[in-house]
Amino acid sequence: MASQTAESAFAGPCNLLGKSPEELRAFLESLGEPAYRGAQIYHALYAERRFDFEGMTNLPAKLRERLARGAAIELPRIIRKHCSDDGTIRYVLALDAVAQDSAAKDSEKTSRSLTPATIETVFMPEENRQTICVSTQAGCAVDCHFCLTATLGLIRNLSAGEIIGQVLIALEENRAALKPQTNVVLMGQGEPLLNFEPVMAALRILLDPNGMAISPKHVTLSTSGIVPGIERLAKEKVRPKLAISLNASSNAQRDEIMPINRKYPIEALLEACRDYPLRPWEHLTFEYVLLGGFNDSPDDARRVVKLLANLRAKVNLIPWNPGDLPYAKPDPARIEAFRRILADKDVRAFVRYSRGQDVMAACGQLALMEIGAATSNLTQISQH
Ligand code: SF4
Repeated sequence: MASQTAESAFAGPCNLLGKSPEELRAFLESLGEPAYRGAQIYHALYAERRFDFEGMTNLPAKLRERLARGAAIELPRIIRKHCSDDGTIRYVLALDAVAQDSAAKDSEKTSRSLTPATIETVFMPEENRQTICVSTQAGCAVDCHFCLTATLGLIRNLSAGEIIGQVLIALEENRAALKPQTNVVLMGQGEPLLNFEPVMAALRILLDPNGMAISPKHVTLSTSGIVPGIERLAKEKVRPKLAISLNASSNAQRDEIMPINRKYPIEALLEACRDYPLRPWEHLTFEYVLLGGFNDSPDDARRVVKLLANLRAKVNLIPWNPGDLPYAKPDPARIEAFRRILADKDVRAFVRYSRGQDVMAACGQLALMEIGAATSNLTQISQH
């Protein structure tokens, strides 16, 4: 009977990437193996980054052979790699047509979940660390007007394995030059809080000391402001840091560039932020793209100060790079004046310039070159 269960479990290769310790234990038990073998695979896969069973020398040879026949570790495939002058590498990855894995219980199980897709992952080396920017959906349905990904619409949600696979690939590709610290930001294609369960399943592996062991201080989830998602994240035991794309100082202004604001206006968004249980070391990050002549006036800065009063927060000011959209590059003096108004009122504010712009890796640029939309004159921006 046990061997029948094992054979049926091996009816087709089971992709182990993205599986939790519990799922791997259950899988090994279904093969008639001791559950602790699942924990050994979990460690080999995520902590040691071993992607073939042959290399998992902590397993008996017979089990390795059996796994090689009936299971798989399927990473996204690199189909192109663009290297920027500033060291940034943009990976274009192909995702095969796959069924959602079991972690994706509440994701939208439409036929779209089976669609092959192309996504991007960006690797940004710095002096003592690397930052990896991952996608959580192929395309995005949120429709921020300054974002190239928005022009794709939602193609499909990514599974936990496809999300964690991006981090593993970026680390593996740069293994020889890795710095001691790794930051992961969920700011590539997609709105993470609209693909909640797979994103959380990937985060639990990333943040697990027995998994990829990245500190929660070094992992940031950025949202366009999906209030129910923020409230749900607040209840999670394992959480990354939270960043919110604000980009406006009033509802009228935000409605114009982020239609999601009509559903979750600034007041509701900031209430969810005020209720968010920050850990002692933690603050919220508000991303604010400075669109010249649109949201970069001193009055805007003063309104932002009022909005963020009583929040433990910092603001990243991201100057817009000009393109065909009806916004201008903000004047350097206005950028500094904006920052100073915030700082004078004790709102910590930093000016951040997007990296990798020559390879379309800057915020909001992720998506289009590979699908023929690079001819669009749209250039920059946003936060996911
Ligand atoms: S900025 Fe983020 S949420 Fe908005 S459309 Fe782009 S990817 Fe989606």
